[in-house]
Amino acid sequence: MATRLYNFNPGPAALPLEVLEEAKQTTVQYGGRGISIMEMSHRSKPVEQLVAESEQLLLELAGLPRNEYRALFMGGGASAQFAMLPLNLLTEGHAADYILSGSFSEKAHQEAQYIGEARIAASSKEEQWHRTPDVRGLNIQADAAYVHMTTNNTIEGSRFNTFPDTGNVPLIADMTSDLLSRELDYSRFSMIYAGAQKNLGPAGITAVIIRRDMLERCSKQIPLIWRYATYASNDSLYNTPPVHALYMTKLVLEWTKRQGGVPQLETVNRDKAALIYDVIDRSGGFYEGIIEKSDRSDMNVTWRLASKELEQLFVQESEQQGFEGLAGHRSVGGIRASAYNAVPRTACQALADFMADFQRRKG
Ligand SMILES: *Cc1c(COP(=O)(O)O)cnc(C)c1O
Repeated sequence: MATRLYNFNPGPAALPLEVLEEAKQTTVQYGGRGISIMEMSHRSKPVEQLVAESEQLLLELAGLPRNEYRALFMGGGASAQFAMLPLNLLTEGHAADYILSGSFSEKAHQEAQYIGEARIAASSKEEQWHRTPDVRGLNIQADAAYVHMTTNNTIEGSRFNTFPDTGNVPLIADMTSDLLSRELDYSRFSMIYAGAQKNLGPAGITAVIIRRDMLERCSKQIPLIWRYATYASNDSLYNTPPVHALYMTKLVLEWTKRQGGVPQLETVNRDKAALIYDVIDRSGGFYEGIIEKSDRSDMNVTWRLASKELEQLFVQESEQQGFEGLAGHRSVGGIRASAYNAVPRTACQALADFMADFQRRKG
């Protein structure tokens, strides 16, 4: 087998090698049943069991009680949730409050505006998203439908470390790029959604964690296929879900548990990101971090070099040396290293070494 690259792709992103190997074993024969999981009816026992176990594992890893929360699985990616959330919960006569901290949060806000009144509760756009907005003392009206935030800003490389107190107003988060990567009081959130392709598995499946009482608040004026309640009452099997993507996700969740769960992964993730941030901070300005230090993400580390040409050279040389996915998002440029749960520490160490060497040669 060709050697594996140091994969810093922002998403779809690295999967644990162990998981890929395990999936290889079961691609043709699933559980000795003579066919693959991709060929099975979604009404079969193995698929029902797969969904049930995935729901249980995800809630367990997030530290959320099963009697209060459901974990649902559906297609469409996080972007579909940008619309599905307001369709369900931005009901007649109420407005929703959006916290803007980066381009994905703006997209979520944009979609909500097609459905109802979506206000801006806080924003750091004027600071070019170089930090996350201060959310202490947010002015949230008691009758707001919900408050929406993006806990980790994948494109910009920032994250929230404090969360708003929204009283009785449901707090809802897009956690696509940090779910299960750090310890949070997940129970502060009434709903959490995440496209799987960053920390949970391959593209094609989206996890929606929702507090059970929220299901009753959902609109009954929208088609069944868009209602969270439909997914809940049918255990995510109302229609055919992307079964194989869910299977891969379950393997990643099991791997996550074997690593020691969220507390252990958080420690490792902090250490991994610190290897890269240290090189940036000790480079005397050769590498310039984009995000204010207090708001830096451990998942997406972003920085710039003195010129576009130097950045291009950095990416080019990194690719020659076995690194993948280091070019910044096309909308912001610069360099971005996405070090999700499945990216091994050795890859981050190799990147830190490469960065130091590149500076020695070009600085
Ligand atoms: C990747 C990402 C998205 C978009 O996800 P899709 O599955 O491509 O729709 C949305 N929000 C955040 C925070 C992301 O990281």
